Amino acid sequence: MKAVRLHQYDERPRVEDIAEPEVTGPFDVIVRIGGAGLCRTDLHIIEGQWAEKSGVELPYVLGHENAGWVSAVGSAVTNVDVGDTVIVHPLITCGLCRACRDGNDMHCENGAFPGIDSDGGFAEYLKTGARSVVKLDASLAPADVAALADAGLTAYHAAKKAASLLYPGTRAVVIGAGGLGHIGIQSLRALTPAQLIVVDRSEQALKLAEECGAHQTVVADGTQVDQVLERTGGHGAEVVVDFVGEGGALEDAVKMLCRAGSHFVIGYGGTVQVSAIDIISTEINVVGNLVGTYNDLAELMTLAAEGQVTLHTQTYPLRAVNDAIDDLDHGRVQGRGILIPEGAA
Ligand SMILES: [Zn+2]
Ligand SMILES: [Zn+2]
Repeated sequence: MKAVRLHQYDERPRVEDIAEPEVTGPFDVIVRIGGAGLCRTDLHIIEGQWAEKSGVELPYVLGHENAGWVSAVGSAVTNVDVGDTVIVHPLITCGLCRACRDGNDMHCENGAFPGIDSDGGFAEYLKTGARSVVKLDASLAPADVAALADAGLTAYHAAKKAASLLYPGTRAVVIGAGGLGHIGIQSLRALTPAQLIVVDRSEQALKLAEECGAHQTVVADGTQVDQVLERTGGHGAEVVVDFVGEGGALEDAVKMLCRAGSHFVIGYGGTVQVSAIDIISTEINVVGNLVGTYNDLAELMTLAAEGQVTLHTQTYPLRAVNDAIDDLDHGRVQGRGILIPEGAA
């Protein structure tokens, strides 16, 4: 089959012919890929930023945001059949560890992360496990939802955690209305009655934010903290969901919180620095967010099928992966870039 493999860090991946993955374990599921999302994490992987963390051996197949059709199943698989349309939770999980039993798939002690630490979905076929596949509603096409498997899931996971703090009359600030942010805004609108204030440097991103359901938008022109405080009656917001995580956003987020407010960190790159006295005297919380659970992904697919969450995409044939990477690198992708293997439909 055709696959996109990384042979060397700091070098572009190659499109080449490799053997198709095969069922070897009773819970294995092979998915024929209908669409795979290209993610900024793929750029970071190519740059070598994940080399130590993942410990992956090169060459390997990239691609961790995958959807398609079940093409083969192991002898013990009962939850999907060959031919089913599925989106793939990014982790293969054991189901037996404490985290799995709590439903926290992303903390599985024996998990694998195809596309990060093993062969992923920039290929015609992907091997995953029975616990990772979510059946799709007939109205959803794999290429339209693939990027919800990771980018969308991460945004939804944070929105769902924040939702428990957002009752009528509360305010939530979203920093960053890009690829993840626009899913976060739609998820918060679907899950909470909070007033949503969206902050971004780009007027175009703020326009998208309004289309996604933002109640108010604020241009990040240096006065964004004051503007948020003004629009929250001087109190600040109960929740700040930070999809940027660098370049001043982390400092802004803390200043935008009300007393006992919560800062949800999703974007990364910077460092959270808050003095202990500020934490104890205001009881603010800093909350980390990593991917999401299987149940989060299933819920997000319900919202997608209902039309409450839609993803803006730009598609490329799998063989044009390096054009897609160039476009992502140079800010030319509208929404999320999706790679589609030849003949997948
Ligand atoms: Zn991703
Ligand atoms: Zn586990």
